[in-house]
Amino acid sequence: MKRILVSIKRVVDYNVRIRVKPDGTGVITDGVKMSVNPFDEIALEEALRIKEKGLAEEIVAVSIGPADCQQQLRTALAMGADRAVHVQTDAAIEPGSAAKLMLKLIEREQPMLAILGKQAIDDDCNQTGQMLAALWGRPQATFASKVEISGDKAQVTREVDAGLEVLEVDLPAVITTDLRLNEPRYVKLPDIMKAKKKPLETVEPSALGVSPVERLKAVKFDPPSQRSKGVMVKDVGELFTALRGKGLV
Ligand code: AMP
Repeated sequence: MKRILVSIKRVVDYNVRIRVKPDGTGVITDGVKMSVNPFDEIALEEALRIKEKGLAEEIVAVSIGPADCQQQLRTALAMGADRAVHVQTDAAIEPGSAAKLMLKLIEREQPMLAILGKQAIDDDCNQTGQMLAALWGRPQATFASKVEISGDKAQVTREVDAGLEVLEVDLPAVITTDLRLNEPRYVKLPDIMKAKKKPLETVEPSALGVSPVERLKAVKFDPPSQRSKGVMVKDVGELFTALRGKGLV
């Protein structure tokens, strides 16, 4: 079966104003709205469009993390994923562990494509897709802003510093999504009801033969320094005088 694996990470909603814990050991997540990582919504939207074109038959959404991740997997099912796999763990999941766990699911599911977000907005690592492609030994096309599947190849337009780069990769492959790839659909109420009946499997990392390891130690979190107040100027002349006064022109 032509299958697409899409990863869905649970992160603090992008609208939330992040607050650092008073002791600097992390950010406050208690009582904070959590959502699907925005780049992962884009990944799922792209998988749905590929399936709607008749180029894939099944979409499997995967999330790794604590029990609450099932909320985000239900959102993915409501958006249109066919089934979900939750790798349940309370351990800290770094990109290396996420990639190893995804590889195990890939070996089981044999997808034609694994679509991930280019980065998770909580850790901003931008590593998991690249690590997964290396472990899987398959091509990667990261920061995708256009994806076209034809036969056993995908043509992917990538957003790179110099502009746009077009790559052709053999399938199966890993694709990671950039912001301009698509605009994810809204979930409708009947779809939320239908999603409750879709299959959601839970597995432990040990059942996949992986024990997540923590290789990184976060030493300290600090909130960004406060921006100083702006100054209103009447016209361009006053702007130049103010900039000159600061030695900026
Ligand atoms: P990162 O390398 O941490 O910036 O994450 C890049 C992408 O990997 C994310 O957008 C997700 O698609 C995927 N990913 C990373 N960690 C997880 C996780 N714990 N559960 C599901 N997907 C993940």
